[in-house]
Amino acid sequence: MSPAPLIDQFQRRITYLRLSVTDRCDLRCTYCMPERQRFLPKAEVLSLEELHRLALGFIARGVTKIRLTGGEPLGRRDMIELVQALGRKLGDGLEELTLTTNGTRLAEFAAPLFEAGVRRVNVSLDTLDRDTFTRLARRDQLPAVLEGIAAARAAGLAVKLNTVALKGVNEDEIPALIAWAHGQGLELTLIEVMPLGEVEEDRFDHYLPLTTVRAALEQRFTLTDDPHRSGGPARYVRVAETGGRLGFITPLTSNFCDGCNRVRITTTGQLYACLGGTEQVDLRAALRAPDPDTALAEALDTAMRIKPLRHHFRIDAAGQAPALARHMSVTGG
Ligand code: SAM
Ligand code: SF4
Repeated sequence: MSPAPLIDQFQRRITYLRLSVTDRCDLRCTYCMPERQRFLPKAEVLSLEELHRLALGFIARGVTKIRLTGGEPLGRRDMIELVQALGRKLGDGLEELTLTTNGTRLAEFAAPLFEAGVRRVNVSLDTLDRDTFTRLARRDQLPAVLEGIAAARAAGLAVKLNTVALKGVNEDEIPALIAWAHGQGLELTLIEVMPLGEVEEDRFDHYLPLTTVRAALEQRFTLTDDPHRSGGPARYVRVAETGGRLGFITPLTSNFCDGCNRVRITTTGQLYACLGGTEQVDLRAALRAPDPDTALAEALDTAMRIKPLRHHFRIDAAGQAPALARHMSVTGG
């Protein structure tokens, strides 16, 4: 008998796993983490074998898409081994293996990723201006990222760009970013900044609702709704002037939880049933139990019982504490 599929209490089927393979990063994007971020001791982080075993457990329960993320996934030393091991499940339960990266090391890893079966990557790019990048990411790494994007495309990987919209930072540059991306044949998705984890600044200062961005873009571009769905929370428009597709992920201005098909696992094996919630199950304990297969199956059943209907993010006042203490780099964006 094959194991039961993962169906939550609201009858949503979970087919998508986002797996954080490290909380460490070579950048320090100001909205994501403080300069002096305290990283986890290595012993707390899941081993390569544990990550592999976990992923296989999810595939056996009907997960067809896995996204590796972090922190910066390409910064983990044995990352490519994990990709290769999971790549062998493609066509055997797994339909897509992908990752979200800041791109700084893509030039080095694009070809091995493609060889392992990865066909698309999401690259985070908030600006094309080197000074803005250096201020925002606190590292002068824009040239490496652009080189990485070019290398990924040369290796045959489809690249999708993610851009966090930030008031007073990249707000004025968004039309140029879209034109640049579309000029290269790349899709771009805009994201609202979310209140996750303490950083040095107040996120409210830079919070830019995408309703405002869209209204501004409509002064310049002709946007028409596009029914395309990627299986995630993004909603799309076509930009007549560039011929490209533009996505909007709006956790704050409109809720998209009804069709949620995903769960997230942190670097320490904590399953978070919702990016915006505290409901969690300790999968590392299950993996380290005397009978890991049974413990993991039970833990996943628990996760399906506790997955909430929706998140409750708010970012409507200055000086507000983050909605959740954990950083995006821990849960995996
Ligand atoms: N380091 C990789 C990267 O930057 O693509 C993967 C992990 S990063 C946490 C994943 C995504 O989360 C990035 O696109 C980043 O811009 C986004 N992100 C991080 N903190 C965020 C926040 N507080 N609100 C919205 N997006 C955030
Ligand atoms: Fe690192 Fe990604 Fe967070 Fe930037 S958004 S600090 S690249 S984990």
